[in-house]
Amino acid sequence: MSTLAATQISLPNGKTYAQPTGLFINNEFVAGSDAKIDTIDPYTGKVICAMEAASAADIDVAVAAAEKAKRGWRDTLPAQRAALLNKMADLIERDADIIAAIDSTDNGKAFTMARHVDLVGAISCFRFYAGYADKIHGQTMELGRDMHGYTKREPYGVCGQIIPWNFPFLMWAWKVAPALATGNVIVLKSAEQTPLSCAYGASLIKEAGFPPGVANFVTGLGKTTGVAIATHMKIRKVAFTGSTLVGRQIMKMAAESNLKKVSLELGGKSPHIIFADADFDKAVETVANGIYFNQGQVCVAGSRAFVEAPIYDKFLEALKARTAQVKSGNPFDPTTYHGPQVSAIQCERINALIEGGVKAGAKVVAGGGKHELGGLFISPTVFSDVTGTSPLQNEIFGPVLVISPFKTIEEVVAIANDTEYGLASGLHTSSIDTALRMADELEAGTVWINHYGGASPQLPFGGYKQSGIGRENGDAVIGEYTQIKTVSIARNNNKK
Ligand code: NAP
Ligand code: MG
Repeated sequence: MSTLAATQISLPNGKTYAQPTGLFINNEFVAGSDAKIDTIDPYTGKVICAMEAASAADIDVAVAAAEKAKRGWRDTLPAQRAALLNKMADLIERDADIIAAIDSTDNGKAFTMARHVDLVGAISCFRFYAGYADKIHGQTMELGRDMHGYTKREPYGVCGQIIPWNFPFLMWAWKVAPALATGNVIVLKSAEQTPLSCAYGASLIKEAGFPPGVANFVTGLGKTTGVAIATHMKIRKVAFTGSTLVGRQIMKMAAESNLKKVSLELGGKSPHIIFADADFDKAVETVANGIYFNQGQVCVAGSRAFVEAPIYDKFLEALKARTAQVKSGNPFDPTTYHGPQVSAIQCERINALIEGGVKAGAKVVAGGGKHELGGLFISPTVFSDVTGTSPLQNEIFGPVLVISPFKTIEEVVAIANDTEYGLASGLHTSSIDTALRMADELEAGTVWINHYGGASPQLPFGGYKQSGIGRENGDAVIGEYTQIKTVSIARNNNKK
């Protein structure tokens, strides 16, 4: 395979950079054998560039490269793996403005958000797992004088990773850093809507000095490239972030191929609960950010708000006023908070759910879908009076909040937990008793108290129920990328 040259791209902020467009296999950018994929700027609707796409045969080549690199990487001194991951963090920090601009153009998210949330998170993720690389250890077991036992945590080998489009580079970092820190080798597929920062990150992997084959990155369609990864007989673990629907298929494909280990980070319909004794203004602000951040395209979006009855009417008014202040516009305008949705398909999906909700009798408190800027913009929207069977009870993955009042703590616990999802939850109260009781009662992988959203490399992240299997971040992810080997030795205690 011959190496493909990068394409010069002029970003909307006037900066020019070299964008790799090939599949990154064995530390080279190469052509793919599937049809190329045009990636689109959702703000302008224009094609940014065409990316090479991987067929199942290309995935075989990437897996073979990873297989070849597997033992060498596993046996690399942990401190050396740490040094390379720290080098990656340095390079990402150096290029943070470029990578944030790439994600902003490819996804439509506001540049300031990309720079201060996605990129800051990606850098700290690489630093955190650089620190972990030489702190992975097993246990010793007391078995008496005649036996000695210990455990080791070993990598799975070749890991397949499939990421979504909502936080392209941050999700890339969350997958790449812990997998490499633990001595695994990877084949990662970006989402077809946002492939650019993944390929750019690949160029930094090469610059940092990772050995060829350790980290391989491809663009491709879910139904071809994604399926090739999930069904591959030499891939021993697959890590997926995306919809519950596809997560279920990944698990099935893993089961029907080689029973590869599966970790899934899926959807949600997370409750955000406001008690009457909460800091009112802060709660209004947090509920707004909890749903409108990233155009609502967040797996942990606080999309169901429950407000205690005595303050409900006042809260609706305040939220309506706050919603009207959300600043929409060009993602590169530093005052913009709200950009376009990622794609026409997502826009149509959200609008259909909004229309279905209105037909089912929901009341529009604010917004209502149509946006004065047209294009792929959707107005930040609040609905009340949403019935149990309304289409608005689905995960919308857009800037659409459903709000309702509650009277008692028992009632709100029951409705908050009345969902097949369990990714996150949030609550606001000034009572420590209420806060701790709710933290116990809510069926969700994360409970945010007096704030909402945000992730940190230190905090494990993942879902209860159909929101996922396994955890990312923290030390929890170390277990997802290592398997325990038990070693047991018979001692002869110097008997001849
Ligand atoms: P999706 O279909 O679940 O896509 C996520 C990733 O899985 C993408 O890389 C996708 O590839 C890949 N994929 C799709 N079908 C696959 C298959 N059969 N086998 C293997 N991989 C496959 O999500 P989406 O269509 O982009 O968005 C739909 C809904 O998913 C959203 O409305 C939202 O509810 C949810 N979602 C959740 C998250 C999250 O963070 N939990 C993120 C994104 C979306 P391609 O896209 O390249 O085809
Ligand atoms: Mg795009």
